[in-house]
Amino acid sequence: MSAPILRLALPSPLRRLFDYRAPEGVSGAALQPGVRLRVPFGKRSVIGILIERVQHSEVPEEKLRSAEALLDATAPLPAPLFQLCLWTAQYYQHSLGDTLNWALPTLLRQGEVAEVRQQRYWLATPHARLDDPRLERAPRQREALRAITQHPHGVSQELLAKLQLNRASLEGLLDKGLLRWEWRSSVPPRHQGSWLVEPELNLNSQQRVAVEAVRAAFGAFQAFLLAGVTGSGKTEVYLQLIHGALEAGKQVLVLIPEINLSPQTLSRFERRFNARIVLLHSNLTDRERLDAWLAARDGDADIVIGTRSAIFTPLKRPGLIIVDEEHDGSYKQQEGLRYHARDLAVVRGRMENVPVLLGSATPSLESLHNAHTGRYALLRLDQRAGGAHAPRFLRLDVKSRPLEAGISAPLQQAIGQTLAAGQQVLVFLNRRGFAPTLLCHDCGWISQCPRCDARTTLHQRHNELRCHHCGHVERPPIRCPQCQHVDLRPVGAGTERAEERLALLFPDYPVLRVDRDSTARKGSLDRLLDTIHKGEPCLLVGTQMLAKGHHFPRVTLVAILDADGGLFSADFRASERMAQLIVQVAGRAGRAAEPGRVIIQTHLADHPLLVQLTEQGYFAFAEQALAERRAAALPPFAHLALLRAEAHRPGQAEAFLDLACGHAEQLCQQLDLAGVELLGPIPSPMERRAGRFRAQLLIQSQARAPLHRLLGPWLEAIETLPGARSVRWSLDVDPMDLY
Ligand code: ADP
Ligand code: ZN
Ligand code: ZN
Repeated sequence: MSAPILRLALPSPLRRLFDYRAPEGVSGAALQPGVRLRVPFGKRSVIGILIERVQHSEVPEEKLRSAEALLDATAPLPAPLFQLCLWTAQYYQHSLGDTLNWALPTLLRQGEVAEVRQQRYWLATPHARLDDPRLERAPRQREALRAITQHPHGVSQELLAKLQLNRASLEGLLDKGLLRWEWRSSVPPRHQGSWLVEPELNLNSQQRVAVEAVRAAFGAFQAFLLAGVTGSGKTEVYLQLIHGALEAGKQVLVLIPEINLSPQTLSRFERRFNARIVLLHSNLTDRERLDAWLAARDGDADIVIGTRSAIFTPLKRPGLIIVDEEHDGSYKQQEGLRYHARDLAVVRGRMENVPVLLGSATPSLESLHNAHTGRYALLRLDQRAGGAHAPRFLRLDVKSRPLEAGISAPLQQAIGQTLAAGQQVLVFLNRRGFAPTLLCHDCGWISQCPRCDARTTLHQRHNELRCHHCGHVERPPIRCPQCQHVDLRPVGAGTERAEERLALLFPDYPVLRVDRDSTARKGSLDRLLDTIHKGEPCLLVGTQMLAKGHHFPRVTLVAILDADGGLFSADFRASERMAQLIVQVAGRAGRAAEPGRVIIQTHLADHPLLVQLTEQGYFAFAEQALAERRAAALPPFAHLALLRAEAHRPGQAEAFLDLACGHAEQLCQQLDLAGVELLGPIPSPMERRAGRFRAQLLIQSQARAPLHRLLGPWLEAIETLPGARSVRWSLDVDPMDLY
């Protein structure tokens, strides 16, 4: 019998596997599926994952190359996670090798050993005291001890170097018996005893129903949608369920949106639990990420908290998956492998037999629909916990009212009254910069990005025109480039301009701006939040960064400067997003004793969706919006896939999509696929972006199955199209943005 052939998934966009011979001297038994091998690939050497061993290859004998080295004794990726990757690759029509690559921590992709690294950790001994008389004459040793006692889990060798503690002081402390070290991984051993550090709150009846329902499902798959108004105590429900899972000896995975990743989030878990918590997010070093990943895989972490990609964290003893703010857009990856972490959480729960809890004050229409059809069990929390009242809404019709930097006179008055009463005001405007347009008052010239079909935004503080789509930056002209007149004026308002105007109107109060520009520097958001939490009257101006996760107990007025964008956008999801944003921003108001007010400036004060939302709340709005989606046969009542293409020459992307469309039509006939519609190709709403011309083809299907039966063979055909290499293209299954 000839030696078996190894079939590997390689980090390549090609949706196929690659065959190799076993590395020299490596026997068959060592070659278990899932192990990593280093193999030659073209002129490079890459790391692949063994999928299976086969007897025959279509590659001729003499062309079959040998793998260079076997990197693992056992597969680094446990079987359930491998299954999840297979499912993901299949569903999103992505190459398996590339999918595994997204799922694995960078260092494992580069060939690092898949074992927890041990290092030295320095700890103060139990009787070490800063006022030890022996330290009186040793100020450096005392400072070193002070620094080390700040870290109850010990100071790693790595951190020690950063703290710049010198060796001599450490040795001095060691000699005195005030310091010790241990050799261990980055996750400290768990303290014995109770899981709880602080007592649990007494749940109200709706919270209790929710906790009991999910607990009853422990050990089996069931998806739940926890729809609770802002401040209704969803987090308390999560915490008590986590406690239950820990008691049962299980691990919990908690997904949170990118924007909620703050020290406050972590500390809420740390205050509650005596548990080993690891945090997985994009700011970790590669080594930190690998260590956290391994701790989760090997069962050395009890609670794993992370953003989108943490859905691919293996767990030795999974017990519960929680997705907080399940409606949040950051769960959808918008490049490469375009997965949705919330949807994958449900898939994973089913594979691993654990309940999945999706929570939100403003659930996505998809999830609400799933609750209506019984796929998710609906749990509701209708009251704010702790007695705070729901905010009151006022639609302020600004038709034919003059706006100064986006602010109307009645709004100005309301802001003044609130500040005078010693309270805080939050002004929300989802547009950064000073003004979205620079306009010539003489000839109507408008500043455009040279590389995109888009206007540039004026950032006055830096005296720049910036394109928010491609990053292009230029100095604003002094004269109009078209008519040479010197009368260029900023039109419309962004946060910078609102800030300037509010500072002028209310000179006695601080105005704090919170957006991506003002918080770009590390620590600046924390400093802003600290000021806000002092509770003195002030004005906060900001984008959606302000809308999420934070508690501003002293904010009693929320002003939404412009709600109209969401009401007449071409994107069918725009109104849903607007409603979610309004409710989330409003949820910042009056969370403590004082009641909150929300004023929404709009030109469409009678718009039915806006009326529903402000008078009857998000769920009434959602029902109305769902009815509209059903009537228009849009998701969640239909399923979409979007084929995007872009190229340097105009028309090139569309020509490519035309060919692709022809293939799809043929396949639909051949495979007898009913209810699949091809819409397009059409130029993208913003046709030119960063110098490329873009087009798209939308595939819409009433049922999921025919759509997916089409996609596999279709992509195979697309990969062989003449333009497939000169045109940049990608398929987005369940796209969230149609541009
Ligand atoms: P959400 O996550 O729904 O926004 P939180 O869990 O943050 O709400 O709760 C809002 C506030 O209400 C918090 O200060 C929390 O401590 C408090 N809270 C939650 N549940 C209860 C309860 N059962 N009894 C008293 N206070 C509660
Ligand atoms: Zn002009
Ligand atoms: Zn641009």
